[in-house]
Amino acid sequence: METLHTTLLIIGGGPGGYVAGIRAGQLGVPTILVEGASPGGTCLNIGCIPSKALIHAADAFCKARSYAAETSPLGISFGTAAAAVEPRIDLERTVAWKDGIVKKLTGGVGALLKKNGVKLVEGWATILDGKTVEVRPEGSSEATVRIRCEHMLLAGGSLPVELPFMPFGGPVISSTEALSPGDIPQRLVVVGAGYIGLELGTAYRKLGSQVTVVEAADRILPAYDADLVKPVAAALGRLGVELRLATSVLGMDEDGRRVRVRDASGVEALLEADRVLVAVGRKPRTVGWGLENLMLEMDGRAIKVDDQCRTSMRNVWAIGDLAGEPMLAHRAMAQGEMVAEIVSGKRRHFAPAAIPAVCFTDPEIVVVGMSPLDADKAGIEIVTANFPFSANGRAMTIESTDGFVRVVARKSDHRIIGWQAVGGAVSELAAGFTQSIELGAQLEDIAGTIHAHPTLGEAVQEAALRALGHALHI
Ligand code: FAD
Ligand code: NAD
Repeated sequence: METLHTTLLIIGGGPGGYVAGIRAGQLGVPTILVEGASPGGTCLNIGCIPSKALIHAADAFCKARSYAAETSPLGISFGTAAAAVEPRIDLERTVAWKDGIVKKLTGGVGALLKKNGVKLVEGWATILDGKTVEVRPEGSSEATVRIRCEHMLLAGGSLPVELPFMPFGGPVISSTEALSPGDIPQRLVVVGAGYIGLELGTAYRKLGSQVTVVEAADRILPAYDADLVKPVAAALGRLGVELRLATSVLGMDEDGRRVRVRDASGVEALLEADRVLVAVGRKPRTVGWGLENLMLEMDGRAIKVDDQCRTSMRNVWAIGDLAGEPMLAHRAMAQGEMVAEIVSGKRRHFAPAAIPAVCFTDPEIVVVGMSPLDADKAGIEIVTANFPFSANGRAMTIESTDGFVRVVARKSDHRIIGWQAVGGAVSELAAGFTQSIELGAQLEDIAGTIHAHPTLGEAVQEAALRALGHALHI
């Protein structure tokens, strides 16, 4: 067996691992990255990017259908008045287009690793001890390479949570299968009204499925504050997505075509389903690759790390989904970049003022920093204000006036500690929100910044002005 030696060994080439690799390479740290599937990890191959591509395609199709039905005030129609044309979607081409984006991006990651001198070893790593792994190629039971290292970075990511009474297989699918559909099921039951359930449930509805979402909690997106979620719930209603809240899933019926559920009052029902998307969370991938040999301290299901992503074993580091919540790609990347810098000798800590979270529902939701409720729980006195998109010109021109921007600032010095927004295309506001918190901006800074007209960003400035008591356009 071939033996390789390196300073930094990264296990897993997702956004955490590949960013660590690129930065380590830039800093001249000899680095090997082992990846069993495809560079880019969950995010590029079966997560963020393919889901956003499918969401976009579904939205474009849905808009075309609504224009064809002459319900659009924009005056767009298809065909002639005598012979209207019904838009169709060729799903095979849609999936090929999505796969093309994935291929371009994963190929780009491979090229960036190579350009920065990182050796990519393809195969599955098994940990022997804190300095040694063996790698076996996909599909083989024999290891072909042994790697010895000074620093081991664990970046193996996460897997979808399976319901024991409804395992994946046949009609029961995870997000991975949902992102490469061969056809659009007539009836889709989605279990879980979190990120994946609502992002993909909405996309399938727009592609033509009848969608029923079953959620154990008494509202959708239970992790977000109730006011933010209201416009999303209203839009799901308009789209015709059925919500079954405070409802437990009991399993599939014997014929495999119906899902048995029970509501809070104990009443059972059978939901017809051609496919069932189970999206009840993700769990760190901690089993099956020798991690137990390290006997690391755990934090629940995740590997416990400190504010430098050090584990309980010297020179063993963990980042991204493997190191717990929030399981977001940009957090994994930031941690990966930091660990590479620490290994190269720089002094760094992971102490972001805020990690943005975006939910790509329709309308979208952005949350950065503290909500009024978070501030209240932390005993911080605040000033807060909303600005509705119904009073924003740009929102009217893109037919998206539902929703608002909300700012939360400390009462004592007006320092901004949180932003929340719900509305069409508000994901793009996340950058400005996070920058203002990271830079320690006060309400007066945002209120005094000229925001381009006409943009959704004007609602951000107006929210700050309103918190100061002198909004201009409301
Ligand atoms: P991963 O991306 O999971 O990468 C881990 C890699 O390690 C994998 O490629 C795996 O093959 C490899 N690996 C594991 N074990 C081994 C081993 N023993 N040997 C070799 N290789 C190994 N986050 C967002 O921020 N925004 C979004 O819009 C978003 N959308 C999502 C949509 C979906 C459908 C899903 C499922 C997730 C989404 N996420 C999103 C979450 C995001 O994908 C993850 O937070 C992110 O990918 C975590 O990065 P990571 O590097 O920790 O792990
Ligand atoms: P999630 O935690 O967002 O939502 C899971 C939902 O399932 C929750 O509302 C929960 O109450 C519900 N649930 C749990 N058990 C249930 C049961 N037995 N029956 C009915 N409902 C049940 O999880 P997810 O949607 O699977 O996504 C996993 C993770 O992937 C997210 O937490 C996030 O970190 C990441 N992700 C992020 C994005 C994004 O950033 N836009 C998109 C997709 C995924």
